[in-house]
Amino acid sequence: MSEPAATQTIVIVGAGQAGGETASELRKQGFTGRIVLVGDETHVPYRRPPLSKAYLSGTATEESLYILPPAGMEKARIEFIGGVRAERIDRAARQLHLSDGRVLDYDKLVLATGGRARVLSLPGADRPNVFPLRSIADVQALRAHCLQGKSAVIVGGGFIGLEVAAVATKLGMKVTVLEGLPRVLARVTVPEVSAFFERIHREAGVDLRTGVQIAAFEGEPAVTHVLLGDGSRIAADFILAGIGQLPNVELAQQAGLAVDNGIVVDEYSRTADPDIYAAGDCANHPNEFYGCRLRLESVQNAMEQGRVVASALLGKPQVYNVVPWFWSDQYDLKLQMVGLSAGFDRMVVRGDFNSRAFAAFYLKEGRLIAADTVGRPQDFMFAKKLVAMRAVVDPQLLADEAVSLKTLLPAA
Ligand code: FAD
Ligand code: NAP
Repeated sequence: MSEPAATQTIVIVGAGQAGGETASELRKQGFTGRIVLVGDETHVPYRRPPLSKAYLSGTATEESLYILPPAGMEKARIEFIGGVRAERIDRAARQLHLSDGRVLDYDKLVLATGGRARVLSLPGADRPNVFPLRSIADVQALRAHCLQGKSAVIVGGGFIGLEVAAVATKLGMKVTVLEGLPRVLARVTVPEVSAFFERIHREAGVDLRTGVQIAAFEGEPAVTHVLLGDGSRIAADFILAGIGQLPNVELAQQAGLAVDNGIVVDEYSRTADPDIYAAGDCANHPNEFYGCRLRLESVQNAMEQGRVVASALLGKPQVYNVVPWFWSDQYDLKLQMVGLSAGFDRMVVRGDFNSRAFAAFYLKEGRLIAADTVGRPQDFMFAKKLVAMRAVVDPQLLADEAVSLKTLLPAA
């Protein structure tokens, strides 16, 4: 990997969090050649987290979501091609074929294609009032239906489902959440934290049902009722599906690149083709911290991988080695999570799951591997450091609210 010349062209497919970050990092790190950013949405790169929070509730403007506003792109000499899909990579010719017929020559290509919302495959799921939530356009379509007194049925008790439930409840809607698994947030946390959020939502008035099978959506031309597997019916003005996402890997697959739950990359975010890199939700990377391959769906991952790609492209390779962290805003609560708790052998709780603030720490063989905190930003800040150090911690001190986690940090 040597430093690219000023005459080189780097083309980035996907104008999202990872694509935007890669483009701006390339400039920040001194690349003087041509950068072309191709996105199938018409918008400049924007942050998705507010989509299910402040943007849906109407308290954030579209412009406030922009990562790279038009003026910033112009200043950084990033050529933006919006509303156009990249359809085919010709690796031998190093050319990218676009949906409007254009063909772009590249020296290096970055795939930052993200993911798309999983679609419900149930009778009636194609009706016009069944919505996904992935983009600004999705929220604009959904918002018109988010009116006081209306009934929303949300399918999926993951991050999107619960965040939208909180916003819709605050807007004065009647909200039902239907989760197929026995508990909400099952993919990301322990039963105790799931139970905490189930309680919070029920206390706010949400009809939250777990272990539910949906049989069909009824009504013509729009859905009016959701028919459940047990024969019961729920009235609905609209349906929101928050049932997970699929990585956009087809472009890579068609180009003959390895795909296995995401586009397979090495520790520098390179595919097996030395001219093609991948970053963000679409990339499956070897995570040095965990010693296994991971495909993460988070802003932090998209940004860090964008930086790793830019460094590698500029001949200054850095191994991607981060401890993942996530957050979710629901009502007045902020859930902050660091590390992956899978495989823990002991959980220690600071505070009380029955209150509105707690920290759950996950240990494996005495070391702190992950933490989930609600309403405890200080604890989260130090937990991040402790997890990154794989610190051995005394469970009694972890549980003791009178002990600052700062004092548990091992001496450097
Ligand atoms: P994306 O941001 O999805 O960008 C990929 C872009 O590439 C898209 O615009 C896509 O349309 C485009 N594209 C795909 N294929 C092509 C093609 N062939 N040609 C041209 N363009 C193409 N994460 C958190 O950490 N915290 C949160 O609170 C949080 N909240 C979220 C809320 C919502 C509603 C959603 C949807 C996601 C949220 N996330 C959150 C996840 C986070 O936004 C993603 O992990 C992040 O956006 C991933 O960035 P990315 O660049 O990989 O993908
Ligand atoms: P998610 O977190 O995977 O949650 C989807 C939930 O819906 C899962 O529990 C899933 O169960 C369930 N489900 C799937 N099919 C169902 C069905 N037919 N009926 C009922 N329940 C069903 O996905 P998401 O909430 O849709 O979020 C999509 C993406 O946005 C993810 O990348 C997520 O990380 C990201 N996001 C992140 C945040 C955040 O970090 N705060 C906020 C919003 C969105 P199974 O696991 O069994 O499929």
